Amino acid sequence: MKVILEIQNLDRQIRALNREVDKCPASIDFKNYKKVLQEGRSRFEQLESQANEIIKNYNAAMNRYSKFKGNSEIIKKRNVENINLDNISSLITDANGLVGELSEENRRVEELVRKAEEIVRKSSELSNKLTEAKKRSVNIKARIEEKRQEVAPKIAELENKIKNLEPKVEDKEKYAKYKEMKANGIFPVYVNLEDSRFCGGCKTELSLNFIEKLKNKKMLSCEHCGRIIMLDK
Ligand SMILES: [Zn+2]
Repeated sequence: MKVILEIQNLDRQIRALNREVDKCPASIDFKNYKKVLQEGRSRFEQLESQANEIIKNYNAAMNRYSKFKGNSEIIKKRNVENINLDNISSLITDANGLVGELSEENRRVEELVRKAEEIVRKSSELSNKLTEAKKRSVNIKARIEEKRQEVAPKIAELENKIKNLEPKVEDKEKYAKYKEMKANGIFPVYVNLEDSRFCGGCKTELSLNFIEKLKNKKMLSCEHCGRIIMLDK
């Protein structure tokens, strides 16, 4: 068991070094960059669907527009063919209504064009921002790589120590369990019982029943986090 705990300690140091890379300023910059990129992408999608909506509305407006124009031709004809006092007032009402509808459609179309222009402007702003971010990311990646190179020899040294210790592990089964849990992201695997009642991994208070069992077996998986709690080192 002692050797396994030694290995666990070395693994802990490796994890700390990896965390150093993850937490370095460049890595944080990179995370922010990815966020900008993601936000940019969803913004583009938004703009695209807005543009589609505008095109749809524009087509509908143009359809109505041509329909009204058709109506105005009919009115013009009526005007010429049979002008009499009976229908002149309805003719004027129709014509006025038509003028109102046409100018309303015109206003809508203009509004749509204005919106479309705005989308084009926003898209190009966004595109510039993303290009800028991409340029910066090259530098960020280089800085992360530099940090990684800095810790790489230390990690290699620790891994080498682990390799040398592995043949000395007596309880192969326990070590296999250790490796399996570590691979599943559970770390540390072997923990102490803290203050006679807490799991040293997840810090949950353990039941009296559990502690009784632990006293007998000396080693038992935590019911909450699955880590193996050891009674004695
Ligand atoms: Zn636990």
